Order: sequence, then structure tokens, then C-alpha cells
Amino acid sequence: SMATTETPLDASKVKIIKTNTPSKAQPNDQLVFGKTMTDHMLTIEWNRGKGWATPEIKPYAPLSLDPSCCVFHYGFELFEGLKAYRTSDDKISMFRPDMNMKRMNKSAARICLPTFESEELIHLIGKLIQEDKHLVPEGTGYSLYVRPTLIGTTNTLGVSVPDKALLFVICSPVGPYYKTGFKAVRLEATDYATRAWPGGVGDKKLGANYAPCILPQLQAAERGYQQNLWLFGPEKYITEVGTMNVFFAFQNKETGKKELVTAPLDGTILEGVTRDSVLALARENLDPNEWEVNERYFSINEVADRAAKGELLEAFGSGTAAVVSPIKEIGWKGKDISVPLLPGEQSGPLTKQLASWIADIQYGRNKHDNWSQI
Ligand code: PMP
Repeated sequence: SMATTETPLDASKVKIIKTNTPSKAQPNDQLVFGKTMTDHMLTIEWNRGKGWATPEIKPYAPLSLDPSCCVFHYGFELFEGLKAYRTSDDKISMFRPDMNMKRMNKSAARICLPTFESEELIHLIGKLIQEDKHLVPEGTGYSLYVRPTLIGTTNTLGVSVPDKALLFVICSPVGPYYKTGFKAVRLEATDYATRAWPGGVGDKKLGANYAPCILPQLQAAERGYQQNLWLFGPEKYITEVGTMNVFFAFQNKETGKKELVTAPLDGTILEGVTRDSVLALARENLDPNEWEVNERYFSINEVADRAAKGELLEAFGSGTAAVVSPIKEIGWKGKDISVPLLPGEQSGPLTKQLASWIADIQYGRNKHDNWSQI
């Protein structure tokens, strides 16, 4: 095949052009999620038959693209979101970047954009972060959000396989989603719009999955709900919340057994890195005599019934941006299902415990095999 003659992505070839006007770090309390970018970006061009060109780290600047470029017309775009943390020993480490690279390659393959050696891109992102390391904020809840992006750049209005692509990475210093720590959210269980479906691309991080979710979010907001709880099918299965995976905790009144549950990865669910981390930490640390941890189908009707019986313990979203985001109410069929919170607090005990387990690893206060990469 052609692939064997193409140049693979090679981090050791990187060309670095430093900015002449380095910026100062903003004070932590001025950071607004995704609004400010760091001084440098990484770009790598790709051409069919030639492969990956020389990676370049250079001053952050606008891209120049032809208006006929296929990304603008047919949605040849995918992205990733991961974070780098300033750890307690003042090093900078990325949280599970191998998971993001794996997912990025799956997204790329699905829309006929080029795949790449994950390790090479991790190295390049590491070098990019080093250039701007003074802009990585310090403190729990603060981090550098890293946004790898891949677009098709063929100039044609013909709908076809792109023969040119651009991979770029930009970074944004960010603070906690809510300045005061947790803030439990109200969700609207949404069955009038569908985020993803069997045989579709809901498990890929394509830009095309995101734009159509904003209108339902605005509609939910008009009714006083911050996010959509996306339901699927006649069974009203719970899939995800906004742009996060979602977990529920129940307790069986008869047996006393507790269960942490999230939707299974059946192709309609984004394979969240935080989801995977929550599942792993829950399976490693919760007492199996007390807890079951399950990936299974469950519906809004189950949640409503069990809430009515007093069996609903907690609910939270999981994702890179907010890490875990507690849920306090779910609007469904004109009523609100309320989720218990600790007295005077914004989450339940398990949600709080999981958030601190993850933060301890992200900020280097605790170790987990291969989850932190420098
Ligand atoms: N679902 C969707 C639709 C998302 O966009 C995200 C954010 N990437 C997630 C779930 C959470 O994934 P992760 O934990 O990898 O950020």
C-alpha cells in the first residue's frame, strides 16, 4: 500500500521557532475556560503519498486556508481535549495522553484523515508545553488544557477523500469550572433531540457531533436547566450529559448493596478518559462487599422509579474539563427528580471521594501506573 512509502510522524525532526514577545502568566482568578491561548502552537502538515512533514512549534498565529478547503464544507475535523498539570514537585505532567491519542487516531480513521504514531505526538505535545511552561498555572483545579486538532485541507468542492491534512495543537491555561469548587447542576432529560445513534459516530470526537447539541442546550436553558441528559431510543436509555459521560449510584433497599453505573461503550458513547479513570478507581478502591461497579444499559424510567423508592444515591458527569460534575436535579416529564447531596454541600460522598482520588493523581500527590506522563 501507499502507506508504507509515506513518511511517519517523527518528533525528533521538530523545528522550533520561539516567539519574540513571550507573555506573562495571567493571575489564576482571571482565567476563563478556553479564552486565552499560550504563546506557541504545534503544526504538522500531511500529504497523501508523502506522509507527515516536519513538525513545527512556532508563535501562536491564525491559519491561512483556502475558502474551498474541505474542512469548511464537509466537516473533515476532529479534536481531542486533555490536560497538563503542574504537580506538587513542580514538574508538568500530562494525564493519560495515550488514551487521547488512541481516540484521536480512531476519530481520524473514521473520516479518512491520516493516522499517526501516538508516542510521537505525545513527545511533540510535551515539547510544546515546555516552550510555554511558565504559563501552566499552579493549584488544585488549575491546569493547561491541550487541544489537538486534525483537519482536512484539500481545496475542492468535490466530496472526496482528503489528500492534504493539518494537525495542530493549541493550549489554554484554565481554572476550575466553578470557582467555589463543586456546583451541582440541573439537567433536562432530553428525548426530543438525539446526540448519537447505533451505527453513527457518537463514539468519535468529531466537531460535527457538537454543533447540533447547542440548540437543545439553549432550549433546556430556557427552562432553567444547564445541560441535556441525552436519552436514546424507546427505552429512554441514559447515554451522556452535555459533553460528559454520566454516572449514577443506587442502593438496593432490600439487599443494601450499592451500585455505581454508567452506560456501556456500544458505539453511541464517547469513550471518556475520565469515565475510564472513574471506573478503574472505583473498581480498585471501593469495597466489593458494599459496591458493584457496572457498565450497563439503564433508563431515565429506572432512575425515576428508584428515586421514588429512595434508592437513588448520587449522580455526576465525568469529563476532562470539569473532571467530575455533581448533578442535583433532573427534569423529566414535567417534574424534577432530585438527587441527594451531602448536607450543606454540592455533591454526594462518592462523587467527592472520586474527585479527590483523581485530583491526587493529576497533581502528583498520588501515583497510578502510567497515568501521568512527563
Ligand atoms: N462525552 C462527550 C460527548 C465529550 O465531548 C467528552 C469530552 N471529551 C466526554 C464525554 C468526556 O471525555 P473525557 O473524559 O475524555 O474528557
